[in-house]
Amino acid sequence: MPAVATDILPASLVAQLGETQLQSLIEAPREKRLAILAAALQLSEAAALSALAAATGLDTASNLEADAEARGLIPARLVHDYQIIPIRLGEEAGDGAQSALHLATAWPPDNVMADWLRTFTSRRPVWHLAVPERVHQLIIENYGVGSGSLEDGDDGYVAPEIQQHTEEAVDEEAAVVRFVSDVISQAVEDQATDIHFEPQEGQLRIRYRVDGLLVPVPVPENLLRFQDAIISRLKIMARLNISERRLPQDGRINFRADSTVLDIRVSTIPTIYAESISLRLLNQKKEAYTMDRLGMSAEEQRQITQILDYPHGIILVTGPTGSGKSTSLNAFLRKINSTDLRIITIEDPIEYEVPGVNQMQVRPEIGLTFADALRHVLRQDPDVIMVGEIRDKDTAEIAIRASLTGHLVFSTLHTNDAPGAITRLVDMGIEPFLVASAIELVIAQRLVRRLCSDCSRLEPVNKIKLRESLAILGCNEEESDWVESLKLPVGCDRCRGTGYRGRIGIFEIFRLNDEMHELVLKRESTRTLTDCARRHGMRTLGQSGWEKVKAGHTTLEEVLRVVTVAEK
Ligand SMILES: [Zn+2]
Repeated sequence: MPAVATDILPASLVAQLGETQLQSLIEAPREKRLAILAAALQLSEAAALSALAAATGLDTASNLEADAEARGLIPARLVHDYQIIPIRLGEEAGDGAQSALHLATAWPPDNVMADWLRTFTSRRPVWHLAVPERVHQLIIENYGVGSGSLEDGDDGYVAPEIQQHTEEAVDEEAAVVRFVSDVISQAVEDQATDIHFEPQEGQLRIRYRVDGLLVPVPVPENLLRFQDAIISRLKIMARLNISERRLPQDGRINFRADSTVLDIRVSTIPTIYAESISLRLLNQKKEAYTMDRLGMSAEEQRQITQILDYPHGIILVTGPTGSGKSTSLNAFLRKINSTDLRIITIEDPIEYEVPGVNQMQVRPEIGLTFADALRHVLRQDPDVIMVGEIRDKDTAEIAIRASLTGHLVFSTLHTNDAPGAITRLVDMGIEPFLVASAIELVIAQRLVRRLCSDCSRLEPVNKIKLRESLAILGCNEEESDWVESLKLPVGCDRCRGTGYRGRIGIFEIFRLNDEMHELVLKRESTRTLTDCARRHGMRTLGQSGWEKVKAGHTTLEEVLRVVTVAEK
């Protein structure tokens, strides 16, 4: 048995692992080891944590909070590198001895780490095991994202992996490079879609957009000192002109995270304190969703797949920015993708790569607009065309012409509800009879946060409030009579205390029938179209959301948040 193995894992557990499992455990960073151990022992992570606790004699800490006094005892770099967090000081011993320091750790302490700790504090350490995600989250909350990189001064501590490049590590420029890379890596980990660097009076604020909501990112206290260097670093990465500070600029960054390369769009604008920089993270986790994963019910999938088999016609997905429209279109493309169909897409940006599909990026700055690209694509003998977005009359007209000449066309529109897409096209100046004959299906959609399955709890409902919410959502208020309890968010270490994990779609599917054709020709309002569609069985976004609430996938608050939101 290798000595290094027993230094990081109790012998009783080492004996249960194979050679390769042991090796990957030794090589993994401390915060990843629990997941590897769980997989090797075929246990859940929670069970693996208990097994580890039993084998090491350490206890498992839950409901962790960091202690402000204890926090200052250990430098941020050590905390980051070893994924440990000081949680409290012990009782005073009374005999003049220092009280013990309690620390939570993602993995049992080893000798090297214990040695480093001793160089900073003479207090006796008391170790507690904890869920690695929670430890990591507490480190970010208490020390700030990337604080391990930007630490002031030379405290003599050098992270193990950079020991060989000591000169570089103390260099401020290198620190900023590492900091920026930490901020982006953390965003990738949190599945953020955007990162905003916002210079404010006396501070540089950093925020992520996660699951559609802005989340302030805790930052190191000394961040302002590095503000100019951080902005310059971002501009260099995006190949922008760093001396130009008065004009907005656009660029891109190719960021390497583990094995994937991330495409990041960068935009700068001058604001009163300094340039504000926004990063949009594209092809983030290139995980393609199936219609199932999007949260479509069997009936919704049936209604949509039926039309996906049509040889021609237009299928539109509508909703505000960030409602998952392109994710849905991508799922449809994957569904029909086959060697006997020629599929061409025109996108801005290309968010997912689909094997076998010809994907094209529009470049309005050199005159390649959606409308222009579409004209050319029609000469390329396509069967199916996906147009990222219909923004103007030009694009709308060509898309309609394409569908009427035997192509299946997918696209998106910015409208609140599904019937609104029809009136929007007519308002753009398209002849109603063209709209009525080309559009086969309109799907309005929103994303709501999904309740964390580890901590959500059934609670009795307040009937009066429920009736009010149902009325706002346009649902039958009588339904409240049959519902006694609904699931509510609680918050646990797995969901970072938010009570939610991931998102799920809600859908409104609008299919034109003969009666609606007549209404479109008469240029009737969206309201009239909606009423008619509902009489023919269309389920609105509000109703679809309520179904998801009843099924325990999300909450009324979430549905109300996305359904009543005004169009941007
Ligand atoms: Zn949870």
